[in-house]
Amino acid sequence: MLEVADIKVNYGAAPALWGVSLKVEPGELVCVVGPNGAGKTTLINAIAGIHRVREGQLRFNGRDITQLASHKFCQAGIAIVPEGRRLFTGMSVADNLELGSFIASAKAHRKETLATVLELFPALKAKLQSPAGSLSGGQQQMVAIGRALMARPQLLLLDEPSLGLAPLIVVDMFRAIRKINAQGTSVLLVEQNVAMAMQIAHRAYVVEEGRIVADGLASELLDRPEIRQAYLGL
Ligand code: ATP
Repeated sequence: MLEVADIKVNYGAAPALWGVSLKVEPGELVCVVGPNGAGKTTLINAIAGIHRVREGQLRFNGRDITQLASHKFCQAGIAIVPEGRRLFTGMSVADNLELGSFIASAKAHRKETLATVLELFPALKAKLQSPAGSLSGGQQQMVAIGRALMARPQLLLLDEPSLGLAPLIVVDMFRAIRKINAQGTSVLLVEQNVAMAMQIAHRAYVVEEGRIVADGLASELLDRPEIRQAYLGL
């Protein structure tokens, strides 16, 4: 479904990704883990069309999308939940969600998609008319994920959805992500919470200093002593 082939991304003259390759197959939940500053956000933003890729190729459903205009990535079937959520905090939850369905193919199914989102995150039902900024951190993350789902993506990109959330809320969040995937949406998840991410992912990639240094089945990576030591402190 998604094929990232040897991509390089720079910030000015400074390289942030040195030739990264990865794949997400239909129906998969794949995570990308690694330390602060490794390049995870840069990678996910490149896949969402937010950062331009200088070298290498992005292919989605067999189509080369490397040069596609940023606003067309959503139409192509890729939606991102960005780091820090980026909600319109003064607008209502309902309006934030509606904004996610601006593309024609999503607009036509707005009502039923909203029903699915509210089934996934029932806590949002009573908050639809509240300003998004008045919600708790966990609920705001639900709105951010809900907004992306409103576009009815084939591939959902999630950048650190657990950041800043209380441990119990994090468990709920990962449960919801697994459910989204089980319902048929492929997921690429960037996380610093390695233990949780690896538990729900089928496969994982480890990024360090702009390069993939390990990849494989999440269960197998979790068993490798060097991964356990570096990322789980075991
Ligand atoms: P974090 O988890 O802290 O967000 P990350 O793994 O997502 O880390 P990136 O944010 O992708 O890492 O950053 C990768 C590298 O690129 C870092 O060295 C960072 O300092 C640098 N970088 C990120 N954004 C910019 C920018 N706008 N301009 C210049 N350098 C940047």
